[in-house]
Amino acid sequence: MDLCNLNDIRSLLGRHGFRFSKAMGQNFLIEAAVPQAIAEGCNPDKGCGVLEIGPGIGCLTAQLAKRAGKVVSVELDKRLLPVLDETMSSFDNVTIISGDIMKLNVSDLVDTHFSGLTPLVCANLPYNITTPVLSTLIDSRRFERITVMIQKEVAQRICASPGTSDYGAFSIYMQFYTDPEILFDVPPDCFTPQPKVTSAVLRCPIRKEAPVDVRDTSFFFQVVRAAFAMRRKTLINGLLSAFGSRMSKTELLTLLDDCGFSATVRGETLGLTEFALLTNHLHDTLQAK
Ligand code: SAH
Repeated sequence: MDLCNLNDIRSLLGRHGFRFSKAMGQNFLIEAAVPQAIAEGCNPDKGCGVLEIGPGIGCLTAQLAKRAGKVVSVELDKRLLPVLDETMSSFDNVTIISGDIMKLNVSDLVDTHFSGLTPLVCANLPYNITTPVLSTLIDSRRFERITVMIQKEVAQRICASPGTSDYGAFSIYMQFYTDPEILFDVPPDCFTPQPKVTSAVLRCPIRKEAPVDVRDTSFFFQVVRAAFAMRRKTLINGLLSAFGSRMSKTELLTLLDDCGFSATVRGETLGLTEFALLTNHLHDTLQAK
């Protein structure tokens, strides 16, 4: 059976009485070159354990199983379990877990299944849960590399540079913890049913060390969120609404000046280095109070 052939997929799913669910973000790949290229982009070897989210009927799972030591795939839709039983029967290194990736403990899952292996993530993600899934995966601190197909616009936001309209708090979060790179685009006609948007494959090697020197990471992200909370406003206004109860406008303006920023600077023009500088100054000033 060809897991990317539309006729084979139709007869397989027909036999199992399966209908696509929009709510579960089900768009299955029908272009064999795509799962192959995603697996190559992830680049596991036999020393790697790959966590896949949403295997569908298993077209990417099969490509990963050929390359990796072990593949663990979490599938929310119970109707796909008998399908996967059938399509994955020739692989002895694939484990299907029935569950919701948002409710499972990812760290425990990795520790249980990938002992002695290098943990990676590779998935054609359900698009409605892209950002929370990425945060959960990164916050688990278990993975060496995350390779995912997501909506192209989200991939562009993740990789965006300061000063562009795509740049935001999530760009900073992703660029702080990973070194994201778009590998290639995937048009809607590579899927059944076709999604409305273009997709892109994003590879995020997890950084071993923070790219900038930040004394308090959670405070850093608090400052970043404050800077982007009022997108069209100046940085000083964002800072005032977050820290105004503890610092006066004059004190905050002096602090901006100490960092070498103008009084009218906008948060969206600051890169990681500038946010680190601002955060560390703000942190020290508040601690000294
Ligand atoms: N990997 C397959 C299918 C991608 S579609 C392919 O490329 O063809 C997205 C898949 O994610 C579907 O199988 C869907 O049922 C599953 N899914 C959706 N939400 C999920 C969740 N919260 N946890 C795990 N799987 C989920």
